[in-house]
Amino acid sequence: MVCPPHVGKMTLAINLAQALNCEAVEPPCGECVSCQKIASAKHPDIQIIGLTSSGNSAEAKPRAEISIDQIREMQHSANLPPFEGRHKVFIIDGAELLSIEAANCLLKTLEEPVGGVIFILLTRNDRLLPATVVSRCQRLELFPLSASEVEATLKSHWEIEPQKAKLLARLCHGCLGWALSAASEDGLLELRTERIDKLLDIINTDYEERFAYAAQLAAQFSQNRRLVQETLDLWLDYWRDLLLVKVGRSDIITNIDRLATLVDMAEDYSLAQIKSVINSIQSAGEQLKQNANQRLVLEGLMLDIPVRVGKTLTA
Ligand SMILES: [Zn+2]
Repeated sequence: MVCPPHVGKMTLAINLAQALNCEAVEPPCGECVSCQKIASAKHPDIQIIGLTSSGNSAEAKPRAEISIDQIREMQHSANLPPFEGRHKVFIIDGAELLSIEAANCLLKTLEEPVGGVIFILLTRNDRLLPATVVSRCQRLELFPLSASEVEATLKSHWEIEPQKAKLLARLCHGCLGWALSAASEDGLLELRTERIDKLLDIINTDYEERFAYAAQLAAQFSQNRRLVQETLDLWLDYWRDLLLVKVGRSDIITNIDRLATLVDMAEDYSLAQIKSVINSIQSAGEQLKQNANQRLVLEGLMLDIPVRVGKTLTA
């Protein structure tokens, strides 16, 4: 099972921790001292263990996996009674990142649970965890929401203005967490604008510039794979939108704020050309995941993006 990032795993875990310790009649109220402390990560009985949690160690270097020391520290804490709540809750964020030793160590705790202590393991893919660990857990799968559900929630719960709510609901692909991050940090939407503008530039530019951009992306890839993957995902969304516009389904496109440009562009490409670009972007993404030569893959993609009618490109 695969749960995408920002689908609401951590929010659900926090709500569960609140419900277990809430002081109100209908938990979680979100307003009592306990609920508020948990929401602001200040409750002594709720701990999040992940790559960024510091624990007691003074070392600040970023980790690649959740270490056995972190799990041992957690186990030690789990054996002590709660400080002020009814239940101790340990949330392991990114459980697929547990080292083998850490997972085996955790297994002992899961096999002999301590009363009043809850362990919540969050993962985007439970197949990346040892089967022995998964078999000891109660599995709960989270699915992306529909665009209309996200839109309604953004407007009613977070009072986001209708136009922005509509756009974010499409862009987040059912992951409310992403929509909420993008609503509160302008950076995410700005980055999207920048990436789409670059895509439009690329379509109208010559091969020299396209290759320069491929080199730039390849260099970025060796620093941060995720950023390049996000760029490709965004390109894919854009070309899918172009396909939808071409077949008369502009009502279900993602980039609703770019409709005018999409309609204009759809005139200049045939359906076959659009499908072929979509295939090329998907295949480039797959090849990058399989560690193919990044620069070659990205240059190939640049060559696969057809010249827009009425424009001429020079090699
Ligand atoms: Zn409460």
